[in-house]
Amino acid sequence: MVPIDSTPIYFLEEILGNRIYIMRDDLIPFSFGGNKVRKAVLFFSEIDKNGCDTVVTYGSCGSNHCRVVANMAAARGLQCIVISADNEHSGSNRRLVAELFGSEVRICNIDCVARTIDETLDSLRNKGRNPFFIQGGGHGKIGTMAYDLAYNEIAAHPVKFDYIFHASGTGTTQAGLICGKMRHKNNCQTIVGISIARENPRGAQIVADCVMDYCGHSADTQLVFDDSYTCGGYGHWNASVDKTIRRMMRQHGIPMDSTYTGKAYNGMESYLRKHMITGKDILFIHTGGVPLFFDWVNK
Ligand SMILES: *Cc1c(COP(=O)(O)O)cnc(C)c1O
Repeated sequence: MVPIDSTPIYFLEEILGNRIYIMRDDLIPFSFGGNKVRKAVLFFSEIDKNGCDTVVTYGSCGSNHCRVVANMAAARGLQCIVISADNEHSGSNRRLVAELFGSEVRICNIDCVARTIDETLDSLRNKGRNPFFIQGGGHGKIGTMAYDLAYNEIAAHPVKFDYIFHASGTGTTQAGLICGKMRHKNNCQTIVGISIARENPRGAQIVADCVMDYCGHSADTQLVFDDSYTCGGYGHWNASVDKTIRRMMRQHGIPMDSTYTGKAYNGMESYLRKHMITGKDILFIHTGGVPLFFDWVNK
């Protein structure tokens, strides 16, 4: 099992009179780290408990989720099948997933994803195998639990953060943080999910649904899922995001990427300006995705 006792949280810089701290989940010691490792550790503990012998998941081969799940399955000698929609650009990690980790990649039409997943699971069961399905992005209660638990590390830090910012995608990272915050009764803290793709009201609603699904009641404070900084959707970014990625690497030696973390950090800077926030203690969670930094370099 990957040891995730805690990841570093430290003071990074001042922005507009705010003290910005960073939580380095990109440094989790497995397969380039990131939030997908926190989720995968919990999924694989469930896989062990159920004695499953095959892992099936959905997503683009270039995604952090599929890469981490495929790597963790390979490390345990479990068979892994990755189902991908054919219109999802495969990214440079496809070779890792297929060749290095030995996962089988099944490409299907976007309209046939649900059916392909069902058929794959049925056919495995008919062959006497015991498959475990992990939703795309590590969605579901187990995915939410990852950041409910991670919140314990944040709550243990001597600084009581007024805000937490992070890249929000499929919603469970944010939902987990919200549940952790409620568990610790940190009512004065605002968690801001910077949407990297989804628009509201759907984006915020999915986070709210995940909170309800995991802890059985809704969020105590207003849920902030800000869709102002998506740059037009998944994988899109602008010159301002470029500037942030360059600055973070040059000034702090921290690799960020244009799909998640660079976009979110840049979004946070704009959010602070727009809402005239100053004098606060702010935590930015670096949710990982280090391989994507090199995709950005090579663009
Ligand atoms: C998947 C991912 C996110 C978003 O996490 P969700 O739980 O899907 O909201 C953020 N950052 C990185 C690097 C990711 O890979």
